[in-house]
Amino acid sequence: MSQYWSAVVRGLTPYVPGEQPKIADLIKLNTNENPYPPSPQAMAAMASAVNDALRLYPDPNADGLKSAIADFHGLKPAQVFVGNGSDEVLAFVFQGLLQHERPILFPDITYSFYPVYCGLYGVEFTKVALDESFRIRVADYAQPNGGVILPNPNAPTGCLLSLAEIETLLKANMASVVVIDEAYVDFGGESAAALVDRYPNLLVVQTLSKSRSLAGMRVGYALGHPELIDGLERIKNSFNSYPLDRVAQAGATAAMQDRAYFDQTRQAVIASRERLNGQLAALGFEVLPSAANFVFARHPARDAAQLAAALRERKIIVRHFKTARIDQFLRITIGTDEQCEALVTALKGILSA
Ligand SMILES: *Cc1c(COP(=O)(O)O)cnc(C)c1O
Repeated sequence: MSQYWSAVVRGLTPYVPGEQPKIADLIKLNTNENPYPPSPQAMAAMASAVNDALRLYPDPNADGLKSAIADFHGLKPAQVFVGNGSDEVLAFVFQGLLQHERPILFPDITYSFYPVYCGLYGVEFTKVALDESFRIRVADYAQPNGGVILPNPNAPTGCLLSLAEIETLLKANMASVVVIDEAYVDFGGESAAALVDRYPNLLVVQTLSKSRSLAGMRVGYALGHPELIDGLERIKNSFNSYPLDRVAQAGATAAMQDRAYFDQTRQAVIASRERLNGQLAALGFEVLPSAANFVFARHPARDAAQLAAALRERKIIVRHFKTARIDQFLRITIGTDEQCEALVTALKGILSA
């Protein structure tokens, strides 16, 4: 605490990201990064973007990237907003589309950045409890609100809502913005991008960090009615005119265009997840049904914090949240088959000790 801090800074409770340890030969299954490298075409595009033109500012509107994203989703560039990671896009969403008279709604167990943005922008919120099996019940969101935000699939549970359930949610909330955070949708869900043309209250947020292996480049985007997009542009142009640098724009554009590599790597992650599910179940874990690139699992006889610590001693890191209701779960990112195999071997050793 410093005397020079503003009242706003004094009042903040910042988000705590998963650890990025600087230890060699660690199996890192704690922050849902993709185990596969970015598309070779994206890497070539980024390499060739490192040239004399870096002395010039990038395209402030990232038109090339917006077109590539629009093409991928069958939408128009005016329905696309891009930002420096979807976390930045979400920050603009909280300030620009979710800050109203009434509290916004989000699940009690969800992405822990949401309450942090509420704190930053003074947005009131009401948490809506997941059901007994850790699922979102969309009927619970049919109540007066200043907006709704939820990840689909949800984080950190991995549980998926169908497109029909999303549509029910949209119809029940025509007077407020419904934000669907699809950070993990490419690993088994159906994107609500297909509903953007029909629902002016829908904003879909996606990221290139997970399914396109570009967490290090920080690119995310939102899809919605041009008026919602325009609201976000107004904030962006009052905050930072050039959030995406030249290298990021080049790499992200190529990554969106390389559909073959995208499909190949996400299918590989899905196949590994299904294998790991079976192996964890065989070890006695209860694994929630996941449509993401991670699984959320608990062992009836072992304390989750102790399991995480024992894995760490074996140089494998997973995520454990000291949060009510989920403090006996581990969130395990899907690695390569080799990494998953090492995890299963380590768990066998720990459980038999
Ligand atoms: C990873 C994640 C994000 C943030 O992704 P970035 O684009 O890397 O900022 C947003 N929402 C959820 C639910 C996530 O898990």
